[in-house]
Amino acid sequence: MKLYNTLTRKKEEFKPIKKDQASFYSCGPTVYNFAHIGNLRTYIFTDILKRSLEYCGYKVKHAMNITDVGHLVSDADEGDDKLEKGAKREGKSVWEIAKFYEKAFFKDTEYLNIINPDKVVRATDTVKDQIKLIEKIVKNGYTYETESALYFDVEKFKDYGKLSGQSLEEKCVCARSEVVEDKEKKCPADFALWMKRIGKHKNHAMHWNSPWGDGFPGWHIECSAISAKALGQPFDIHSGGEDLIGTHHENEIAQSEAAEGRPLAHIWMHTRYLVLDKGKMSKSSGDFITLQSVIDKGFDPLVYRYLCLTAHYRSALKFSWDNLEQAKNAYENLIELVSDAQENPLSISPLAGGRGKYKEDFKDFINDDLDTPKALAILWNMVKDSSVLSKNKLKIIKDFDKVLGLDLIKKARALAKAQSSIPNEIKELAQARNQYRQSHEFEKADEIRLTLAKKGYEVQDKDDSFIIKKLDA
Ligand code: AMP
Ligand code: ZN
Repeated sequence: MKLYNTLTRKKEEFKPIKKDQASFYSCGPTVYNFAHIGNLRTYIFTDILKRSLEYCGYKVKHAMNITDVGHLVSDADEGDDKLEKGAKREGKSVWEIAKFYEKAFFKDTEYLNIINPDKVVRATDTVKDQIKLIEKIVKNGYTYETESALYFDVEKFKDYGKLSGQSLEEKCVCARSEVVEDKEKKCPADFALWMKRIGKHKNHAMHWNSPWGDGFPGWHIECSAISAKALGQPFDIHSGGEDLIGTHHENEIAQSEAAEGRPLAHIWMHTRYLVLDKGKMSKSSGDFITLQSVIDKGFDPLVYRYLCLTAHYRSALKFSWDNLEQAKNAYENLIELVSDAQENPLSISPLAGGRGKYKEDFKDFINDDLDTPKALAILWNMVKDSSVLSKNKLKIIKDFDKVLGLDLIKKARALAKAQSSIPNEIKELAQARNQYRQSHEFEKADEIRLTLAKKGYEVQDKDDSFIIKKLDA
């Protein structure tokens, strides 16, 4: 299996640390608001990665954090605390906010058929581990303390910038564009390991005792502490969205290597952004689309999953409602083809048995850095191939769906059930309409369409066939 490693900037053969096992950590959600569909694209990718590793025979150990400690809006340890902003917005406590949005996140991931990580760890439950890790970093001489925080001194870490490929000079220029509020900070790229509960943060709602005073951990330390504790250091794969490369993951690498003198993870994988026509979707600005708004517009959440699979995870994916509508048509057509195969499992054709190469091709594409668009194309070719016995098609679909997670067999069964509950009178009307349509008698066909609508049904045309749908009351 080949995976693209952001750290080495190339596709690499996956060589697990422990034979036949894959240890995998993904950065989890910050629970101060609903996840947006961009965030969810990253978790769909994480799920595809995990399912693909399992498909290829690895036993996967997957861990993820929940960022429930209030962190500051900007990467440069400045600005407002995200959870406190959420609490103020909704008149709740920070703890209530975190609990509520964590629950909402897992509801979304369940809708999207995302398998839960084996280990989910809240940052607030691991503050002791974080403090222990910071103590190691202090002991190894990579930190300095100011009146308001304990900082990681990036100039002391010679490999700083190796993940993003940015030099320290470039990093400092980027970081300088943020407002630097702590005058004692030596380099703008230095990042907080511990923030003290003084000055601007004197009323910070979440706080713990530490050797550096009462306060709260910096944003990055939780992932270093949680991942190493859950999976050991180093582990195989670390993932997140592309925005995490330059700061969060760069800082995780620096602090973990500074503490232990060995890498945190071997392969670093990043999903490109889901973008809107007008640009970035931002959780902190509040201007974003949630999975619930997708559902409210009448889309099955798995249509969104399907849309995500049509793009490679390393390409930006442009979201529009039109794109989603196209994904819906494709997904529904696929389900109908699967349903046809279910209805006629023994449909024999002269070449029954098929070319037999579909499974190999599918695996090859998945093994080539998770090429889901090509894997989907193989699925389509196979489903449409009249030389494959339907019974065999169903077996292959079930196999592919272990990776794709589109619930194709289940959805096709539900479709067949819904079709069988349609009264004969309606079926006959729809049949008559289809015949008129095929003989180009469109006026008569439209008349029947109206009659059907009055009776609460809609016909959707598919090439030379159709399906009947009950309209919502
Ligand atoms: P957050 O909840 O803000 O910590 O983000 C959760 C995950 O979503 C992180 O891995 C981010 O990198 C990722 N992410 C944020 N915005 C997007 C986006 N527009 N498209 C894809 N992934 C994103
Ligand atoms: Zn993280």
